[in-house]
Amino acid sequence: MLSTQENVKAIKGIGDKTALLFSKLGINTVGELLCHYPFRYESFSYPLSISALKEKGEVTVQGYVNRAPSTFRIGGRTVTTVNIKDDSGSVTLKWFNSPYIKNYVKPGTLYVFRGIYTVSKGQNVIVQPKIYNVNEYRELINVLLPVYSLTEGLSQNTVRKACKIAVNDTKINDYLPSKVKEEYGLITLKEAYKGIHNPSDEESVTGALRRLIFDEFLFFFLRLKALNNNESEAAPGILINSSETAEDIINRLPFRLTEDQLTAYGEISDDMSSGKIMQRLIQGDVGSGKTILALLSLVNTVKAGCQGCLLAPTEVLAKQHFQYFEKMLKPYGINCVLLVSNIKASEKRAVYDSIKNGEADIIIGTHAAISEKVSFKKLALCVIDEQHRFGVRQREAIMLKGENPHVLLMSATPIPRTYALMLYGNMDVSVIKTKPGDRLPIKNCVADENMREKVYRFIYKEIKSGHQAYIICPLVEENEKLNAAAVTNYTDILREYFEETVSIEIMHGRLKSDVKNDIMDRFSSGKIDILVSTTVIEVGVNVPNATVILIENAEKFGLAQLHQMRGRVGRGGDQSYCIFMTGKNSEKIKQRMDVVAGSNDGFYIAGQDMTTRGPGDFFGVRQSGDRQFVLADAVRDTGIMSLAKECADRLDCDTTTKMFEIKKSIVTDSGYMVY
Ligand code: ADP
Ligand code: MG
Repeated sequence: MLSTQENVKAIKGIGDKTALLFSKLGINTVGELLCHYPFRYESFSYPLSISALKEKGEVTVQGYVNRAPSTFRIGGRTVTTVNIKDDSGSVTLKWFNSPYIKNYVKPGTLYVFRGIYTVSKGQNVIVQPKIYNVNEYRELINVLLPVYSLTEGLSQNTVRKACKIAVNDTKINDYLPSKVKEEYGLITLKEAYKGIHNPSDEESVTGALRRLIFDEFLFFFLRLKALNNNESEAAPGILINSSETAEDIINRLPFRLTEDQLTAYGEISDDMSSGKIMQRLIQGDVGSGKTILALLSLVNTVKAGCQGCLLAPTEVLAKQHFQYFEKMLKPYGINCVLLVSNIKASEKRAVYDSIKNGEADIIIGTHAAISEKVSFKKLALCVIDEQHRFGVRQREAIMLKGENPHVLLMSATPIPRTYALMLYGNMDVSVIKTKPGDRLPIKNCVADENMREKVYRFIYKEIKSGHQAYIICPLVEENEKLNAAAVTNYTDILREYFEETVSIEIMHGRLKSDVKNDIMDRFSSGKIDILVSTTVIEVGVNVPNATVILIENAEKFGLAQLHQMRGRVGRGGDQSYCIFMTGKNSEKIKQRMDVVAGSNDGFYIAGQDMTTRGPGDFFGVRQSGDRQFVLADAVRDTGIMSLAKECADRLDCDTTTKMFEIKKSIVTDSGYMVY
């Protein structure tokens, strides 16, 4: 029997080299491996006959290879093609940059191929298919094969094998008391790990998810409970009054604040001058203008002789905020500094010094600002933008850098009020519902492959009239490298389609951060027409001149997430458009798309709980984008969340302490924000 605390090397087949690769994913122990959940499952259907190929999309066929593969070059890429046939007809298979394919397929032999079926220049092709020998494939039919996120050098198979062994051979201490399991109808932890890593059918995945999601919420609420108990209620808040500078800024804005903005600003100002510690959440739909509220509150803080900080989840967003703040506040002699991980060591030291000695008034940064090395002279206000991207722990860590600082959380995740109250505990909530008055509602459209030409022509027209566009690229997600490759491939095709006068750039997670910053700068200043991107772009970015967003494979995203992405446009006075491109067109997908295309109201969309989804689509479809949970989703899983909250309220202190202890023996704190 293995134990959860043992090193992964205790698993048969994992040596030093593989262990090192696992550690790159943050997995060192058997317990941590068990908590490395797949993000989707592959399932394998019986092959189709070639003549039955009709609907574009992923297909599996079985056929004999006619001739040896041929490879040729187009532009910078090699293209390898193979023709296969079965009793009903023949079809061409096509691979890019994979000349080694010729070593894998032999003429006259029968294989199974699985790839994307499409029609290109009148010819039927299956693009980039995977190759299976016939017996190998037969074994896979009707099995749910987990798909894990990987790192370079680590194969899907290695992870699958390791997880399977770990699931079967590890002694697992269940931290949930049996009574709780009985009462809430939950399976054991061991069964849950088995159900998620090595499921026998869809039902076992569902049961496993229910248990593991319950656990995530439960520990979250237990932690929150402990946090609230410790809070010294009596501590006085630092007195911060509204300043003339803030008034002056408001008067000079090129727009008038909306009613809701004014109300929220009033609530914040009251809190901060009340003598109590502010704990306020601003929930405002995308584009409702939350940033200016952060700016005004921070200005008041500085004018009261203190420092404030603004945290953002990505470097791109932190930088954007920094530039805006600098532009707005330089005239008033307020000193803003940017603190992200990717700056030169010498520069960083200077920034640390300026924060410590009080030269820096407003610190704008990413998680880097939470680093131990950062200490403030007098931190009085922490603003956390896109707060759902931060964990409770990180919120705590930044607050500890001041003496009972005020806290302002900002979020565009539209969580229904009852659930917000659970998630944020003792927070006061301001809601900004109205969008600035001069905005035209975004026009939405659901499109499929057949309309692609038309969609591109439309984008072209918008660009030629001086606007800009975002294209969110299909996800691959298995690892960053594949994601990057998919976006790059796609961009090549786009560049071929649009003429050279249209400037197109790519943005994805693998780019160095100075490259990312440079691209964002050029997009902001209008030098790039089309920004093709993975979902890096989904939060916060503000380029009012961008009026179109095309979201590829829209069916792969949660509705709330689609709404977030759509929020990148409709930020200026001009009419904006959002196009949801779907790869497959089932009735279910159509229904979901109609919900998001039929409304621009984030709260309404989040309320449309999608209960009909099976475990197959479960993982990719995250609603809230909330990063404090691994499997759980605060918008989607509201039912389980209520149960976990009720359970957490009832568990006594001793039981809770014991549970945390056992939990720690399975997975340690690091890497998992919640616990
Ligand atoms: P979000 O709430 O999504 O963070 P931002 O704060 O980025 O939104 O604001 C979106 C855009 O709207 C910005 O360009 C901002 O300058 C502008 N804006 C904010 N408030 C108003 C207003 N009252 N009237 C017009 N434009 C506004
Ligand atoms: Mg924002």
